[in-house]
Amino acid sequence: MILASFRDFAKSELPDARLLELDARDEMPVETIRRMCGPELGIHLVFVPEEHGGMGGGAFDVYRVCEELARLDVGVATGLLATCLGSEPIRVGGTPAQRAYWFGRIAEEGLLMAYGATEPGAGSDLAALRTTATPIVEAGCTVGYRLQGNKQWISNGGVADACTILANAPGGPTWFVVDPHTPGFSAGRPEDKHGIRASNTAALSLDGVIVEPERLVGGVEGQGLLQAQAVFGYTRLMVAAFGLGAGWAALDRAIAYSRERVQAGAPLSEKQGYTHKLIVPHAVRLEAARAFVEETAERLDEAAADEPKNTEGAIAKYLATEAGNAAADAAIQALGGYGYTREYGVEKIRRDVRVTTIYEGTSEIMEMTIARDRWQLHLKTRGRHYHDRAAELEALHAAQPEVGAQFAALALHALAEVMEHMRVHRLTRHQHLLMRLGEFAALAEGTAAAARRAARATTGDLPEKSEPRLPAAGLAAVARCAARETALRIAGGGLRWVHGSASLADAELRVFEAALGLPAIQRAQAGALADLDAVSDALYGRAVPAAER
Ligand SMILES: Cc1cc2nc3c(=O)[nH]c(=O)nc-3n(C[C@H](O)[C@H](O)[C@H](O)COP(=O)(O)OP(=O)(O)OC[C@H]3O[C@@H](n4cnc5c(N)ncnc54)[C@H](O)[C@@H]3O)c2cc1C
Repeated sequence: MILASFRDFAKSELPDARLLELDARDEMPVETIRRMCGPELGIHLVFVPEEHGGMGGGAFDVYRVCEELARLDVGVATGLLATCLGSEPIRVGGTPAQRAYWFGRIAEEGLLMAYGATEPGAGSDLAALRTTATPIVEAGCTVGYRLQGNKQWISNGGVADACTILANAPGGPTWFVVDPHTPGFSAGRPEDKHGIRASNTAALSLDGVIVEPERLVGGVEGQGLLQAQAVFGYTRLMVAAFGLGAGWAALDRAIAYSRERVQAGAPLSEKQGYTHKLIVPHAVRLEAARAFVEETAERLDEAAADEPKNTEGAIAKYLATEAGNAAADAAIQALGGYGYTREYGVEKIRRDVRVTTIYEGTSEIMEMTIARDRWQLHLKTRGRHYHDRAAELEALHAAQPEVGAQFAALALHALAEVMEHMRVHRLTRHQHLLMRLGEFAALAEGTAAAARRAARATTGDLPEKSEPRLPAAGLAAVARCAARETALRIAGGGLRWVHGSASLADAELRVFEAALGLPAIQRAQAGALADLDAVSDALYGRAVPAAER
């Protein structure tokens, strides 16, 4: 219902022509976004807990809404995300009174918020933060804090009604809620950005801004970085959904275009060299990422509040935003010269989605986060972790042989062996190798999720709110394509980096090659082309002959 109302609103208030105009004028549609957060649509209520007047949407609801927002425009989506991000420190760390006050106001007044963490010298490394919060003490009591410093790249920075600001108090990094009308607070000119030009991004200056003690989130200094960490599972899932929304928005335009565009006597949609390069692999990557996003959303909705699922959020963000970027880039190519012009929209999507691998943690920081966590699991389980996950997929394959679970298992076994060889040769001291591990782990886990999602689709067990684009047979073909490619990539990449850094002796190299299962992975490539054809048929709605079903 929410998605349908949003689509209706967007159709009348933010049609393509208006979005292109806003992009060209570098203008945020502030009033339209305020209306979206007003009684007419109330989209912001999805993010607000029920007890404070919202709809109390879970992670799954939030993912679906975020995808839909980004499908429309990642800039508009960012304007709404900033309110959600800005209020997150209060949700996870605020006192009951603070939560009631701020969420009550967001629900009723549709407050736009901003989240002020990044600084000119503190981006990926937030601990380097320089903004200070100095207590103002009178008669032995703290009667306020004086904030001094600068924030950089703050979404909604120039338009927000309230900002959460991370600053160093004597007890450590601490969040404060700041009213932008307070003396000493100022926002810089909106940044002239590559994309998401329908969003406002501004530097903030805090020059002796005085806040009352009640504005210290949670009432205790030094909790800021923990509170920021505690929301990553959830907020990174939102950005992952932006990757899916923008990637599919671009791909859908390319699919529609290719049905109509005739070259060399037939529509491009009939040309295998076109679809299997520019459309199908991107649909496969996006849907593998979606499988992981949906699993993470389900786990966040089930998890106790003290299980933030940071690594899962990082994997979801990494897979979906990288896939979204690649899909949007391919969509320009798929539209040829038209793709390169503003009018057809895909070049704007390409510019817009670019930010998703940068904000809320860059892709490189995601690789590091994933690698460190999964490395610990490898060590703790004495190398069993991914072999055990592979065994689960082998069991799934026995029950449902059509979803590529056996290929995903090959990828996971290979990953476990790459990790073990890295341990033996102490290779994770090379940062590049550690980050490649992060990449491989994300790909392997995405692939495994794709097999499980296809299996659930086959038995009709997908969550009710799961995105319904592809039928079960299409999802199974997607899962097989993703798993074959991932297995090859991990075995090939693992060999490259282990041997490339440790220069294994011949005998040891042969042992490693055997452990990777390369021959089995190569044999698993049989049927790869037919599966690309099957995904293509599913995307274009072409009937599959009964004999091949
Ligand atoms: C449009 C936009 C909106 C934003 N909105 C907000 C917002 O609302 N609130 C907010 O607080 N922030 C916001 N940000 C900031 C964003 O989160 C940061 O830009 C991001 O975290 C990266 O920080 P940085 O720009 O300082 O880059 P850096 O951290 O300097 O990184 C530069 C490059 O180095 C890489 N790198 C960094 N550290 C390492 C390392 N240890 N090892 C290897 N490679 C490394 C990075 O991956 C990146 O490729 C926004 C940014 C943009 C562009």
